[in-house]
Amino acid sequence: MIVELRSSVNEKRAQEIALDIKAFCIHYDGGYVLITSSSTKELDAKYQSEAERVTVLNDDMQLSSRAWKKETRTIDINGVKIGGSTNHTALIAGPCSVESEEQIEQSAQLMKELGISIMRAGAFKPRTSPYTFQGMGLDGLKLLAKMREKYGLQIISEVRDATNVEDIIEYADIIQIGAKAMYDHGILKRCGKTQKPVLLKRGFGTTLQEFLQCAEFILAGGNPNVILCERGIRTFETKTRFTLDLCGAAWMKAHSNLPIILDPSHAIGYAYGVPDLSRACCAMGVDGLLIEVHPNPKVAKSDASQQLNHDEFRALTGSLKSVAAAIGRKII
Ligand code: PEP
Ligand code: MN
Repeated sequence: MIVELRSSVNEKRAQEIALDIKAFCIHYDGGYVLITSSSTKELDAKYQSEAERVTVLNDDMQLSSRAWKKETRTIDINGVKIGGSTNHTALIAGPCSVESEEQIEQSAQLMKELGISIMRAGAFKPRTSPYTFQGMGLDGLKLLAKMREKYGLQIISEVRDATNVEDIIEYADIIQIGAKAMYDHGILKRCGKTQKPVLLKRGFGTTLQEFLQCAEFILAGGNPNVILCERGIRTFETKTRFTLDLCGAAWMKAHSNLPIILDPSHAIGYAYGVPDLSRACCAMGVDGLLIEVHPNPKVAKSDASQQLNHDEFRALTGSLKSVAAAIGRKII
C-alpha cells in the first residue's frame, strides 16, 4: 500500500503514522509518502483524514508500479530525454569495454556520425574469469570523460563493486548496474543517494518481481531516475548465450512506470543475431536499446563474439529508423 499524506502533515507526524502502520516513510514530490508491503490492504480509519491518496497494491513493487504512477517516468540525462511521453527509442551504443584512446575515440566518432547521444563502455568489468581483461579502471573512465567533452556525448559505464561506485557516480552520466551486481545492496543503496540516472540490468537468474524489488531500493533511497534493462535470462537453451525475455519486457511495460531498455547483444551473445533482434525489440515500442559496437570486434578484449562492427551498426541504425517510424516512434 502507498499512502500519500496531505501536504499539511509534517515529518514528525508522518514518522509517527509510519511507525504505527509499519511503513517506510519517504519525502517525495514535496510531501511525505508511506510505503508498506503489499499485504497491507487498508489504512486505519483514524488516519484517513491525513491521507491525500491511498493505493492498494497486488505485488511488492511499490514506487515502480503503474498502479501507483500511471505515466512512464521521464529520465532526463543532461537534456537527453528517455521514457515518459517522448516516443523516443534511445540508441545506447559503444564497445563492451574501453580498451585504448584510439578505440574509444573511433567509437565516439561513430556515435557523432550517426547522431547518437549516449555512448556505452565499461571500465570496471565484472568478468567471468579472473584471468581475462578486467577493464582499464579509472584510466578508462577518464578517457570516457575526455570523449564526452570532445564529442558532446552522454556516457554510461558500469559499476562493478563498492570499490568503484564513487568513481562511476563522479564520471558517468548514467550509472549502469550490471546483471551480476543487480543484487548488491551496497551499490543499490548508494545509487539511491544520488540523483544521477541509473540503468539497472536484470540478473540472468532473477524473476521480474526480484528485479523490480532491486529497483525499489534505489527509488526508496530517494533517486527517482531508474531505467530497467532486460539483457537475457538463463534458460535450458545453450545455442544462444541467454534468452531475451520479451514476454518479461511486455509485462514490465504494462506493470511498471520505469522506462525499459532492451539489450539484444548480451542476450544472444553473437553478432549475427543482433540486427534482427534489435529490430524486434524496437518494434515492441520500448524506450531504448543497448547495443555493443566495436571498431574491430575480432580483437575486442571482452564480448568479442557479440559486438557489431561499424558498418554493420550503420546499416542497423538505418533500418531501426524505419521500424520505429512504423510504430510512431523516433530513434534518438
Ligand atoms: C555489459 O554491459 O558489458 C555487461 C557486462 O552486461 P551484463 O551486466 O548484462 O552482463
Ligand atoms: Mn559486454
